[in-house]
Amino acid sequence: MAEEKKMPSGTNSVLVVGGGISGLTAAVEAAEVGYEVFIVEKNPYLGGRVAQMTKYFPKLCPPYCGLEINFRRIKDNNRIRFFTCAEVENVSGQRGDYNVTIRLNPRYVNENCTSCGECIKVCPVERDNDFNFGMDKSKAIYLPHEMAFPMRYVIDMDACLGEECGKCVAACKYDAIELGMASSTFDLKVASIIWATGWEPYDATKIDNLGFGQYPNIITNMMMERLASVNGPTQGKILRPSDNKEISSIAFVQCAGSRDENHLPYCSYICCMASLKQATYVREQYPDAEIYVFYIDLRTPGRYEKFLNNVQADEKVFFIKGKVAKVTEDPETGNITVEAEDAVSGRKVQKEVEMVVLATGMAPSAANMALPDEIKVDESGFIVNGLKDGGMFAVGCAKKPVDVVSCVEDSTGAALKAIQTMVRR
Ligand SMILES: Cc1cc2nc3c(=O)[nH]c(=O)nc-3n(C[C@H](O)[C@H](O)[C@H](O)COP(=O)(O)OP(=O)(O)OC[C@H]3O[C@@H](n4cnc5c(N)ncnc54)[C@H](O)[C@@H]3O)c2cc1C
Ligand code: SF4
Ligand code: SF4
Repeated sequence: MAEEKKMPSGTNSVLVVGGGISGLTAAVEAAEVGYEVFIVEKNPYLGGRVAQMTKYFPKLCPPYCGLEINFRRIKDNNRIRFFTCAEVENVSGQRGDYNVTIRLNPRYVNENCTSCGECIKVCPVERDNDFNFGMDKSKAIYLPHEMAFPMRYVIDMDACLGEECGKCVAACKYDAIELGMASSTFDLKVASIIWATGWEPYDATKIDNLGFGQYPNIITNMMMERLASVNGPTQGKILRPSDNKEISSIAFVQCAGSRDENHLPYCSYICCMASLKQATYVREQYPDAEIYVFYIDLRTPGRYEKFLNNVQADEKVFFIKGKVAKVTEDPETGNITVEAEDAVSGRKVQKEVEMVVLATGMAPSAANMALPDEIKVDESGFIVNGLKDGGMFAVGCAKKPVDVVSCVEDSTGAALKAIQTMVRR
């Protein structure tokens, strides 16, 4: 494994921006046919959103297996270098010959870190754990998550008390902590750039009528992934946030923000499958719980139809075709009443449940980034590929909302496109 080393670069190199499943795939595919690849990832770990998932639909297998395979391929291949806590600061040049300035943001913990965990025993400060969407706390010095790659601690300087405290520095036997670490830049020359910057969960507080942020027992689908994960805030037990109570009823609200001109005008593609998958998480833990799915249309294309059929066969999963108009909380019990108009019967439906999951959609990370002029984005901020003459390609969810299989196929194709910029000059 080579991280954060000084390295040669050149016009036989590919830069991959974003180390999620799409970026990792593109990187290993290009490197394994002999090209030099650099991955730049802004998080302190690789893996992107997939690292936060409990299980993968449709097989319901652990997503980390797929990531581990890619990490192994990276470790075994000295043609790949990766940089975490890193971002692209500037790009100039053209297809076949780009100059890129990379900014390395300080991690405050160097390569000496053995993940021994002594520092967290003495750190006096707690912060919201962003990996678990603030559902638990970590210390100011922390491991991003227990399977993190690279397995190295990081400090949140917004929470840290700095040199005045320094307790972690004294506790670390390996001289791994550098509270004075500064950001730095370096330049790379590459022939091609793959943008694999992925997606962010749509901010559910913007959806006024669905009560997120107002009522504690309304969570998002990504929070549900963390709640159900064995390395999540409740060690995998799905408990409702207000009182850590086991649940006997739950509602999923589909298209929370998606297919709505006021929010995300497009279908986020995966949220129906994500909720059906999460219904299986609930069923596994609560054999008698009632599960209500409020939907506009259920979108389970191709082979995913079988997954839908299996969930539909569950007698205690109820599907209600109707857009949710309103949610209200009973302040005594913390229960939520979900209200919709049933599009089939035309009647108003009200269901009181103990917990609600909003199937929030995927918004492009690229919408909030300064991108080179050569990159074009659509009205929502997804990158539009101009494959004809350019040397930059977007893959996976940087381009549109898709599932992991589609990301992997797309990224393998993009690796070929990147290689062509070096072969066909
Ligand atoms: C609730 C939910 C459940 C899901 N479950 C499944 C499932 O079971 N099966 C399935 O197939 N799909 C599932 N998906 C979809 C899956 O999450 C996506 O297909 C996948 O995350 C896309 O991978 P990606 O690499 O394109 O993007 P991401 O996973 O978003 O990775 C992008 C990476 O780029 C980094 N990055 C962003 N901007 C920059 C920058 N400027 N500089 C450097 N790095 C940057 C990010 O930090 C991140 O690491 C689910 C989605 C949701 C919302
Ligand atoms: S920073 Fe030091 S004390 Fe903390 S986990 Fe790493 S090696 Fe251990
Ligand atoms: S210096 Fe910062 S990270 Fe280290 S122990 Fe003190 S508060 Fe925690």
